[in-house]
Amino acid sequence: MPAPVSDSATSALVYPWNPSATGSVDSAALEAWVEERLLRHRQAIERLVSTSGPRTIESTLRAYDDAVAELATVGSLTGLMHSVYAEKPVRDTAQELLQKISQAGVELSLNQDVYQALYQIDASAADPATKHYLARTLLQYRLAGVDKDDATRARIRELQDQATLTALSFGRNVQEGGKTVTVGDKAELDGLPPDFLEAHQPGEDGKITLTTDFPDYLPVLTFARSSSLRRQMFLAYNTRAYPANRQLLLDLLRTRQEIAGILGFAHWADLATADQMMESAANMQAFLDDLDHASKGGAEKEYAMILEFARERQPGLTQIDAASRGYWLELYRRSAFDFDSQSVRPYFPYARVEPGVLATAEKLFQVSFRRIQNPDVWHPSVSAWEVWDGTELAGRFYLDMHPREGKDKWFSAHPLIPGIRGRQLPEAALICNFPEPKDGNPGLLQHSDVVTFFHEFGHLMHALLGGRQAWAGISGIATEGDFVEVPSQMLEEFFRDPRLLASFALHYETNEPIPAELVLRMNRAGAFGRADWVRSQLFYTTYALETHRLDPATLDPDALFRSLYERFLPYTWVDGNRMYASFTHLTGYSSNYYTYLYDKVIALDFFAQFPGHALLDSPAAMRYRKTVLEPGGSMPGKEIVQRFLGRSQSSDAFTQWMSEEFQQMSAAYA
Ligand SMILES: [Zn+2]
Repeated sequence: MPAPVSDSATSALVYPWNPSATGSVDSAALEAWVEERLLRHRQAIERLVSTSGPRTIESTLRAYDDAVAELATVGSLTGLMHSVYAEKPVRDTAQELLQKISQAGVELSLNQDVYQALYQIDASAADPATKHYLARTLLQYRLAGVDKDDATRARIRELQDQATLTALSFGRNVQEGGKTVTVGDKAELDGLPPDFLEAHQPGEDGKITLTTDFPDYLPVLTFARSSSLRRQMFLAYNTRAYPANRQLLLDLLRTRQEIAGILGFAHWADLATADQMMESAANMQAFLDDLDHASKGGAEKEYAMILEFARERQPGLTQIDAASRGYWLELYRRSAFDFDSQSVRPYFPYARVEPGVLATAEKLFQVSFRRIQNPDVWHPSVSAWEVWDGTELAGRFYLDMHPREGKDKWFSAHPLIPGIRGRQLPEAALICNFPEPKDGNPGLLQHSDVVTFFHEFGHLMHALLGGRQAWAGISGIATEGDFVEVPSQMLEEFFRDPRLLASFALHYETNEPIPAELVLRMNRAGAFGRADWVRSQLFYTTYALETHRLDPATLDPDALFRSLYERFLPYTWVDGNRMYASFTHLTGYSSNYYTYLYDKVIALDFFAQFPGHALLDSPAAMRYRKTVLEPGGSMPGKEIVQRFLGRSQSSDAFTQWMSEEFQQMSAAYA
């Protein structure tokens, strides 16, 4: 019988913040909390190393996994404080502590005693998940350089520490590098929706201040008629953290290159793919070449159509630049497909979308969510939820959904505590920046926001439903890194279904459900631009690959950025675009940003297994939960694909998805 699950919601040791003071924490308390958990981490390693007698799964792998679980939890929760905590001194302390936690991880990965002990385990009688965990751990030890001599390992340790510090600083510069754009004349905001204007009143000096946060940035780029405002916003947004991050990027690339060299790889991109589904940079290149070939003609056709359309409205226009891409695309869609993306926003007030996303996930995955009253959380605006699988409590999650001063500006799912069957429940959080309903403003979302919400929720469900493993090290999203975006990208497809949307998308004033006919028009319009989307992703992906494959000593990050932009995208280059300086995936995914495209191929293949007429009610949903989400990291991604599809992935569904836009278009003109 499994041990009772500890009720972490009331245990003071679990979280760094103070439950009796609405989630507040100061630097000293955070530090003490981290030290306590790092101590437990070290004690587990001591237990592992000092055990006498034969190396067994119970004596050795269990102690190793305890050390891994402590490190994962302390790293995630400190990372959370670093991303969301309102007071800067606490974020600064969190950053220092993250550096220390990361050092402990590097230390563990180069610990020869631990490696030897794990290597000696006889796993011949173990279950497949345990065998997979052990084999993968030993591979990762070899990739980390555990078999190198003392001096070499010391150098690796030093380089890893440097890489961590540089990556953290890069992220912090982005988080704190928000800019503003000032508008002197309200007419400059022509084209923006009324609720946007309402929420952006002039200050005492008569000027209106816009920020580079997403809820300002996206509407300006999509709707503002003023090309100069769009350009100003584009440049403000794409110069965040520049120039500081240019140098940090070069430093990081040099450090990574040296690590790869010591470990016997030609470059970082080969090292970073060695334990992934992709296996090598050469395979990645072949994959990208195929997509390049498949998307080029379509993207050129799209651009030609939009340019022709724009010239009819603005004679003399000879080109469309990157800052105006979203605006013209929106106008084109409005005209060609009779669809205005503003027209769906009234159906997506935040207060309806949140329960809608939750109810859809409950139905799809056959679980139920219960809101926790008076939860122990890090900010009063955060809600906490239990996940119930029948009568079993399966995990908890937190929703931190709106912008706040000092909080990071992006949309992400954040695993907090890895689940271990019978020992601890998985916990995860969504950290998002959706418009907030307040002061009479309903917080209307764009459809793309709703899709993003469900995407991030896909990560969350993977972390929780995959969080019932025997080991923390294979719990939840601990699959190969390049499988991680499959469950989230697959969910994106669900929210194009008219019946599903109508179940929660009710007009905020009239309560009318969103009309099916409007959703179909939206879908037709949304399919237009897919080839261009693929090529944008190819641009970012190739940049991530090349920065980690070329020699950093001679690399010019600006010249590379521009030349790849011009190779992949038809919209005119905007001088001064330094988007790479705020491209945090370069530190997180490093060379492996290809994950998004690679997983999109798998996700669309998976989605094609769901019958279109009964998305939520088909047996495919439960089969998906059982074969894709529940295994977590307990088997290789390729095996998960095999189990769900009965074969390896094929790019047919992806190619079909990309070509839909032109089918839709001929239908629109028919
Ligand atoms: Zn994602």
